[in-house]
Amino acid sequence: MNEINFDTLCRLCLRNSFFYMHIYVGQSVDKSPIYEVLNFVYDLEVSVDDGLPEYVCRDCLLKLKEFETYKRKAHRAKSELLSLKGNVEGSCVKEEIEEDEIRDEQQINETEIKVMATKIRT
Ligand SMILES: [Zn+2]
Repeated sequence: MNEINFDTLCRLCLRNSFFYMHIYVGQSVDKSPIYEVLNFVYDLEVSVDDGLPEYVCRDCLLKLKEFETYKRKAHRAKSELLSLKGNVEGSCVKEEIEEDEIRDEQQINETEIKVMATKIRT
């Protein structure tokens, strides 16, 4: 069995790589430390004193940055959608929709009341 240098294994794919990035020193896309991004993107619960390898290889680093960008983009999209929705809800369009909804609910209640009244009569 070949001797494995545990310390230089890539934290993510367990390969040895000539190019590796220290996860506590290296920074990712928005200058966050790489280990924080690992936790943000993959929920790996990496902490400084966990005694596990402290490097990621080049391939994994590129993937991590890609995932990070993608995840941040998705979260940004969500907040943009929510604020757009908020703007729509604040406008006249939403008020009209709400009135329609209330009318529909009243109709449903009236129907239910009629049904109940019929049941009581029979
Ligand atoms: Zn790797």
